[in-house]
Amino acid sequence: MSRFIIVGSGVAGISAIQAIRSIDQVSEIILISDDPHGFYSRPGLAYYLNGEVPEKQLYIFSEQDWKRLKIRYVRGRVTRLDPQAHQLGLSSGETLAYDRLLLALGASAIPLDIPGADAEGVITLDNLEDSRRILNLARRGKSAVVIGGGITALELAEGLAARHVRVHYLLRGERYWANVLDETESRIIEHRLQEEGITLHYQTELAQILARGKRVAGIRTTKGKTMRCHLVAVAVGIRPRIELAKAAGLDVDRGVLVNEYLRTSQPDIFAAGDLAQVFDPVSGRAVLDSLWGPARGQGHTAGLNMAGQITIYQKPIPYNVTKLAGLTTTIIGNVGSGRNDDLVSIVRGESEAWHMLPNTIVTDERLDVNRLRLLVGERTLVGALVMGNQALSRPLQELVTAGADISSIRDQLLVPGASLGQTVLDFWKQWR
Ligand SMILES: Cc1cc2nc3c(=O)[nH]c(=O)nc-3n(C[C@H](O)[C@H](O)[C@H](O)COP(=O)(O)OP(=O)(O)OC[C@H]3O[C@@H](n4cnc5c(N)ncnc54)[C@H](O)[C@@H]3O)c2cc1C
Repeated sequence: MSRFIIVGSGVAGISAIQAIRSIDQVSEIILISDDPHGFYSRPGLAYYLNGEVPEKQLYIFSEQDWKRLKIRYVRGRVTRLDPQAHQLGLSSGETLAYDRLLLALGASAIPLDIPGADAEGVITLDNLEDSRRILNLARRGKSAVVIGGGITALELAEGLAARHVRVHYLLRGERYWANVLDETESRIIEHRLQEEGITLHYQTELAQILARGKRVAGIRTTKGKTMRCHLVAVAVGIRPRIELAKAAGLDVDRGVLVNEYLRTSQPDIFAAGDLAQVFDPVSGRAVLDSLWGPARGQGHTAGLNMAGQITIYQKPIPYNVTKLAGLTTTIIGNVGSGRNDDLVSIVRGESEAWHMLPNTIVTDERLDVNRLRLLVGERTLVGALVMGNQALSRPLQELVTAGADISSIRDQLLVPGASLGQTVLDFWKQWR
């Protein structure tokens, strides 16, 4: 009988526990987390913020589900790790020994490094406590400035607007999320944001947060313009929480480095989820992949390996379903315009997958706000973006993931004005 310790009650940690229990019913499992709310849907926080779902709907597990896992739950913060002694320490002073350990600590929003960034009313969105705090502040604040170029910034802007806060959304560039969306898609989203009452400011960067006493009172831009506001919402990227692993001497880069078995440089310590920078045998690179699906997959693989079932982690094709300005949008594979970024950007601002774009031809079809964009490679579809009607999402996910040979319809797809949707659908029906 072994003792497994899992640090982090996010999807990576919980999936690891499920995987361990799928092969080992007797070993002891201790789950340690400093999140007072345990396990819940982090993507769901956006819908909680804008009032679409109540808080209780964020919780994924029932009492029964927890019972089945047979864990000991320790609420606390791990502050020390001693790989040689196979021990970790909590901020309470307690020390616990492990046979195998999983670090699934996730990532946190990068704070601003400008004057006034610590004023009361500067907000980021990482967890349920943050959402509650934002909702409280939104009750008092009348206006907010939002900065950041990805999905989380948009979710903050829309969440605040839905709570009757006047929102000014500052964009550094000329359009929204330019490294993933094409110009038309950006404009569709921007138009919808404006209809929601959000004011967009292009080519505008924050230089300083102005405070009255300790509280936010406004901002100053790099061009010297000032704006009054009560809240400043910041979503400029995330950073894996590597400090604990680094202090313990584990190999780290931007995340905690793990091999294809999710094992760190210490053989009995594994890492998964937003924290882990995972070696991908296909590309030969170690990448961050800060999305819910990969975190679940990595946690699962780590759990199997911890329990002795040797399993290689296979990085999935990027796949993300999200709502942009109320418009359901599915992003599959490579659709961006190529910047030196991480996959995290699909969700929160940065992306690595876009960096490796092969030679592709972009072809698109519009129908009101139903929009389909395909990235057609030599013989395969390397990416797709589906906005609005989602009938094609699953077929496209299957075709892109499988690397299906689309040579037979490639020319048809490239004819100007071709009916992309119908062509893809007919092809998929035959192919599957
Ligand atoms: C607002 C928001 C929207 C998102 N939307 C999407 C989306 O639409 N689609 C998508 O695919 N992904 C989305 N994501 C990303 C996705 O939620 C994450 O990739 C995923 O939750 C990562 O899971 P994880 O288990 O690695 O880390 P987390 O879920 O962050 O869990 C980490 C856990 O570790 C705990 N912890 C950290 N340090 C310590 C410590 N020292 N001691 C004890 N416990 C500690 C934390 O409290 C937490 O419980 C979103 C994220 C956010 C914040």
